[in-house]
Amino acid sequence: MDNKTRVIHCGIDRDPFTGASSVPVYHASTFHQPDMDAPGAYHYIRSGNPTREALEQAVAELEGGHAAFAFSSGMAAISSAFMIFAPGDHLVVTEDIYGGTFRALKTMFARWGLTCTFVDFSRPECIEEAITPQTKAIYAETPSNPLLKITDLRAVAAIAKKNGLLTIIDNTFCTPYLQRPLEFGYDIVLHSGTKFLNGHSDVLAGLAVARTPEIAERLYNVQSGFGAVLGVQDCWLLLRGLRTLAVRMDAAQANAGVLARALTELPGVRRVYYPTLEGHPGRDIHLSQASGGGAMISFELEDSRTVKNFLRSVRLPFVGVSLGGVEALLSYPVMMSHASMPKEERDRLGI
Ligand code: PLP
Repeated sequence: MDNKTRVIHCGIDRDPFTGASSVPVYHASTFHQPDMDAPGAYHYIRSGNPTREALEQAVAELEGGHAAFAFSSGMAAISSAFMIFAPGDHLVVTEDIYGGTFRALKTMFARWGLTCTFVDFSRPECIEEAITPQTKAIYAETPSNPLLKITDLRAVAAIAKKNGLLTIIDNTFCTPYLQRPLEFGYDIVLHSGTKFLNGHSDVLAGLAVARTPEIAERLYNVQSGFGAVLGVQDCWLLLRGLRTLAVRMDAAQANAGVLARALTELPGVRRVYYPTLEGHPGRDIHLSQASGGGAMISFELEDSRTVKNFLRSVRLPFVGVSLGGVEALLSYPVMMSHASMPKEERDRLGI
């Protein structure tokens, strides 16, 4: 099955009971158990619901994983993945990371005893140097948010294998339509489903995909135990959005390529970041592990005042925080997605 067909038919593409062309929204929090000695497939909504399962199976198949788990937000999926570890464990994390993930690690999980070291993943030797006897996993994001730095997925997977570590990646920007990290040996793929997977800026959701049954069990225990599951109505909406992922990504990516090149020629634009732009330092690596540049661009203007004037003057792109909807969206990471990252840290990273 090619990628475009897979997007449309992955998982359960019809209701198993009626043949309906979409799995209905099962608004049921509990399921009748006719025989206590033979439990049914579903018993309580937090541990399983057919609508959620339809979405989870579709995403698992798209990523090529053993199982997927739907959460109430991208941050709930990311935090739940961190919860498979124990106090005292250590993670090596890419320094150019989504601001919310940075905050969760530096505040909540630090208090809880999960430690981490942030390093530049475009230099894999830094990852090796940061590994300690307590290290349990390597956490990547490529292309990264917001500087679109590229991590060599094969190099990181090799380091993890050599050191017996798990590999986790936030694949929100590329989606499995463009990049399938599990094929490079990654263990857990995370998504903000709020973005390209849903694609219509009307749902908050997260997904975690496990490569193996063993990792799936660890994630499932957190999903059903901690309970940050995605509501059934949103599962249905996300699954509906997912069916058009291929056409949306193709169109958005084509536009992004044209826009990125046009921005490089615009006076006042100091620098443009787009993974497949000539001169992007990670271009060759990105093209060896993803089938396109994606639909995220970042660029630099003179200073904060110029940025604010620019945002005030634009008529068409929606100015707001998020990404991945059908509309073009313009955001200012310093005051939006990365506002929770301390200024010194942002300055050091060049955000
Ligand atoms: N990961 C990335 C790369 C993101 O851009 C975001 C949100 O912007 C998240 C995770 C968090 O997702 P959510 O807002 O669905 O919790």
